Amino acid sequence: MIEQGWWQSARRVASPNHNARPAGEVSAVVLHSISLPPGEFGGEHIERLFTNTLDPEAHPFFAEIAGLRVSAHLLIRRDGEAVQFVPFDRRAWHAGRSRWFDGRGWRGELNDFSVGIELEGDEVSPYREAQYRTLARALAALCRTYPEITPRRFTSHARIAPLRKTDPGPAFDWAYLRRCLSEAIM
Ligand SMILES: [Zn+2]
Repeated sequence: MIEQGWWQSARRVASPNHNARPAGEVSAVVLHSISLPPGEFGGEHIERLFTNTLDPEAHPFFAEIAGLRVSAHLLIRRDGEAVQFVPFDRRAWHAGRSRWFDGRGWRGELNDFSVGIELEGDEVSPYREAQYRTLARALAALCRTYPEITPRRFTSHARIAPLRKTDPGPAFDWAYLRRCLSEAIM
């Protein structure tokens, strides 16, 4: 259940990286993947990145990204735990420069109207069963709460920023997500 923009099944870690949605629209979902350092799972680095508390000296890669101001609404960790950083009715900073043909026309600035969900992963390692199950439950809750979100309006960072981004990558199994989703919706 989602109450006042927060999914009750997620652990809450509030990020300061959000602002108002210009039209109040919440009508799409963008799937991403992230691992910090790249290729390593576990630990608190992703939560630290999204709360502007990543230690730039903890890893050479962190020095490059520690100054970014980014966030997602949800992170789904390898064990299936969900962490929410930004309420869904606020604009999280996950998509960057982006463009999407949604069947009616081209839209830019996906952050304005989408929910951003990060899967902890490296794009090549298979995502875990527990992650698909949590993702399906989150998507079902989003569809119930925000009627403009439908499965046709689930997309990926790779699709909305094709020259810059490849996540969640070839390891992500859309067909398996659809199967989990039909169970979660029933
Ligand atoms: Zn991404």
